[in-house]
Amino acid sequence: MILSSKTCKRDVFYLINKYSGIVSKVETEMLLEYLFNCARIDLYIRNFSINETIEELYDSLISRRLNGEPVQYITGCAEFMGLDFIVTKDTFIPRPETEILVNELLNSPDKSFRILDLCTGSGNIAVSLAKLMPQIEVTATDISEAALKIAEKNAARHNVSERIKFYKGNVFNALVFDKNPKFDIIVCNPPYVKKAEFPYLQNEVKQEPEIALNGGGDGLDFYRIIAKESHRYLEKCGSILLEIGFGQKQALKDIFSLYNIFEIHKIIKDFSGIERAMWINLL
Ligand code: GLN
Repeated sequence: MILSSKTCKRDVFYLINKYSGIVSKVETEMLLEYLFNCARIDLYIRNFSINETIEELYDSLISRRLNGEPVQYITGCAEFMGLDFIVTKDTFIPRPETEILVNELLNSPDKSFRILDLCTGSGNIAVSLAKLMPQIEVTATDISEAALKIAEKNAARHNVSERIKFYKGNVFNALVFDKNPKFDIIVCNPPYVKKAEFPYLQNEVKQEPEIALNGGGDGLDFYRIIAKESHRYLEKCGSILLEIGFGQKQALKDIFSLYNIFEIHKIIKDFSGIERAMWINLL
């Protein structure tokens, strides 16, 4: 399969096609962007010369991918809201579905507010909100010190460090460090995988931090904490915007209705038509 460089002049298209049918085109491009430290378009318009060393490096990246390592952990980078985020094995990999939460807030008529992002992970929600909404202030929390370090780096990378405060702690506990922990919006993409589902997760997903995935016995632990405690941290008429897992809508409605202080304002579907986000108002 591997042609000798002595017998064949190679270009980047040779590498793009070398594993076609084995690795998806988009992942191939992501690995090549990483290898050549360039933008995707450059792969097609610049004339990179390929030597044996480059091909060997490429082969080793491909073999990591084929061994189940997510492409974002190989490249150390994930795209979210059109922005580049540093990711490591200590952080959950941002998913396109989560952009729904950011877009909801971007499209909201009230645009000057204080936002709390719980379980911030790589900081993708907090940082993209701060970047795209210059008038807001964000507080972001996570239980993982290692993840928070990455989130801080992402804030610096996108020049929004001065508008995001990061605190370490479990959900709301982290806010003991905040002088004024009152917010207009609480946004959260919490861990929501049921414990029993763990053995069936894709190999790639199993490589993500368990604390970023594990939502307890029924996957709803974090929603229960948010339903119980959020009123202490929300301004009057504040809102909660949550990502939710497949089929969790009714259980969440039941959890929030226990308190008689919330109304479900909106359920938002993702690109596959799955109910993916819930907007809840504090009455
Ligand atoms: N907030 C991060 C994200 O949406 C991390 C989520 C998590 O760790 N569950 O990608």
